[in-house]
Amino acid sequence: MKQLFHKLSLRGKLTFIITLTSCLVLVLTFIAIIALQWVSLRNNLLQDTQVLSQGIGENCAAAMIFNDQQAATLALEPLAATPHIVGARLYNQNQEVFAEFYQDLARDTSNDQLKTAIILREGHIFSSAYLDVFEPVIFDGETHGQLMIRVDLAKVNRIFIDYAWIGVGIFLLYSLLAFLMANSLQRVISDPIKSLALSMETISQEKNYSHRVQKVSSDEMGSLFDSFNAMLAEIESRDQELLNSEAHLDYLAHHDPLTKLANRLLFHDRLEHSLARAKRMKSRLAILFIDLDRFKNINDSLGHDVGDKVLCAVSERMNSLVREADTLARLGGDEFVIILEHLRRNDDVSRYVEKLLRDMSSTMEVSSEKLHVSASVGISLYPDNGEDADSLMQAADIAMYQAKNKGANLYQFYSAEMNANARESLLLENQLRHALKDKQLTLYYQPQFELNSGRLIGFEALVRWNHPELGLVSPLDFIPLAEESGLIVPIGEWIIFTACKQMKKIHEQWHLPLRMAVNISPRQFLHPSLVQTVAEVLYRTKLNPGSLELEITESMVMGNIEQSISKMDEFNKMGVELAIDDFGTGYSSLEYLKRFPISKLKIDQSFVKELGVDTNDTAIVNSVIALGKSMGLEVIAEGIETVDQLELLKKEGCDQGQGYLFSKPLPVAQLSSLLDSALIREPEILSSMMQKKV
Ligand code: C2E
Ligand code: MG
Ligand code: MG
Repeated sequence: MKQLFHKLSLRGKLTFIITLTSCLVLVLTFIAIIALQWVSLRNNLLQDTQVLSQGIGENCAAAMIFNDQQAATLALEPLAATPHIVGARLYNQNQEVFAEFYQDLARDTSNDQLKTAIILREGHIFSSAYLDVFEPVIFDGETHGQLMIRVDLAKVNRIFIDYAWIGVGIFLLYSLLAFLMANSLQRVISDPIKSLALSMETISQEKNYSHRVQKVSSDEMGSLFDSFNAMLAEIESRDQELLNSEAHLDYLAHHDPLTKLANRLLFHDRLEHSLARAKRMKSRLAILFIDLDRFKNINDSLGHDVGDKVLCAVSERMNSLVREADTLARLGGDEFVIILEHLRRNDDVSRYVEKLLRDMSSTMEVSSEKLHVSASVGISLYPDNGEDADSLMQAADIAMYQAKNKGANLYQFYSAEMNANARESLLLENQLRHALKDKQLTLYYQPQFELNSGRLIGFEALVRWNHPELGLVSPLDFIPLAEESGLIVPIGEWIIFTACKQMKKIHEQWHLPLRMAVNISPRQFLHPSLVQTVAEVLYRTKLNPGSLELEITESMVMGNIEQSISKMDEFNKMGVELAIDDFGTGYSSLEYLKRFPISKLKIDQSFVKELGVDTNDTAIVNSVIALGKSMGLEVIAEGIETVDQLELLKKEGCDQGQGYLFSKPLPVAQLSSLLDSALIREPEILSSMMQKKV
């Protein structure tokens, strides 16, 4: 029963409880009424019978005194008028029946019982079927006998049963009404609960916590709705917070915190999508791998704060060129990548990259420093250079390195041959790490001469890598690798130290006023420790600072002119000489050149090579010499290979020179003979060397 009740719905339970309660109340009320009615019926009957028995008793008194049985019987006769009286008996003092009356002998067998079963007593007796009333027959205060009247209770019982049936009828009707009313009234409670439950279900299914339930009353149910709505509001705000923090986390996971561009993770995701789209639509796309030129130098020389600002400024410039459909991402450090979709021709990419490089290289002002930032761009194309993200990225990366190797501010499309070169570079870079400590690096020295007198004036130290398998590796092949990997700093230190030590040795042995020119690479020049390193080397080797000449190029100082000039000033103060190497190939800004505390210009060998052949180059050489002269600088030509070149240079007034015509770069072991001859026949050395060549 209990289980059955629990199985009922709330609505069923409420209906059941209300119906049961009202029925119980009805039943109890009805029982109470019936009981009262029954008691009152019996009491009325008793009272009526007692009044009747008193009257009859008085009437019978005289008959009993005179022992007149007939008169007594007659006195009992009026009882016949009362139909529910079964009978009456009059007893004398000896308790013998004196007279009797029976209403209907045939009707009721109880008359026999009346005859036999009645035992005289006082008062009355209620049995289930009869009421027996006993009345003493008194006259003049003396009892002469006793009257017993038996009343049939059938009528009373019938009335009672009738009441009971009416009660049952009323009960059934009432139960039905109670059920119907309870059933409809319970909705007042169950409907809001039902709607609340429904709302809860919908909310939990849809996870839509902005939903609110409609309050229908201001009772406890209303409070429940208010609490539920408050709970929803709380969940909604937490949900929102959760969504916000999830979105923030997602943003952090997919964006570069500095530039706010897509990061590597998001980029790869976008690339996969772009490739899938390109495959589906049979379209082409390009990946532009962008690496800033000499960015490490900016970081090293101006600090990371400026470096960060430069990255942000560069990102903004690139972002302004990127179309909505394309993706720009920062892969880390100074590496960026752009995906260009829906390409028609390679020319589109070229034009785009040219504009990108142009925009990037215009002067930018960061932290009140005027900077020129350029970039090298490697380009790979889908489907030409690969069909998947990895191979396309690798191809773009290789092409970028190729662009970098060719010089700054260039772009390069990937080609299959590059791959082999790139692998080689990677291998070489790994081996270069061991080269210094394994003593595989060595310096060669190329003599430099005064062209007019033929006097030996010094050497240029040129590094060589004596690779265990590859033999002598050109600095043109490994210096860019050392630059890229940062190995140039320790390697550069070793070069300066070795060259200065060698020069000191030469001074000690030959006592000639010779100078040692040492090449400085861009990253090395911008490294904050360079001045300190040079000072330490000079101190340790005890070389006169004036015997050291540092060769720098224009391009390495143009990135940050003010700082470069102040660094040059420091070398100047130390007494170290500065020469501009490869002059004519860089920016050649006269405005800046005037401000450089340098003592020498070195004409690049590419111009010397074409001297007398190419009129342009000849004009350049001539004007460089004239410029040097006008600025009071020494001018040295490198790469002199022929007598004609030498003669032309001399004619134009070039002071100094170096080249295969005089000597190739020499290992230390071969310096002695040159120096010996320089010591003995100083002025003649040049012509004798030239004669040997000719
Ligand atoms: P550079 O400073 O312009 O050096 C001159 C280059 O021209 C040297 O090549 C030299 O061997 C070569 N050369 C000299 N005379 C002639 C000639 O008559 N004809 C021809 N065709 N070439 C001649 P090398 O040694 O291969 O060096 C190439 C470049 O590598 C250098 O150019 C310099 O930029 C860099 N490099 C060389 N040694 C060092 C070094 O110790 N440190 C740094 N940072 N860079 C170095
Ligand atoms: Mg040089
Ligand atoms: Mg040079």
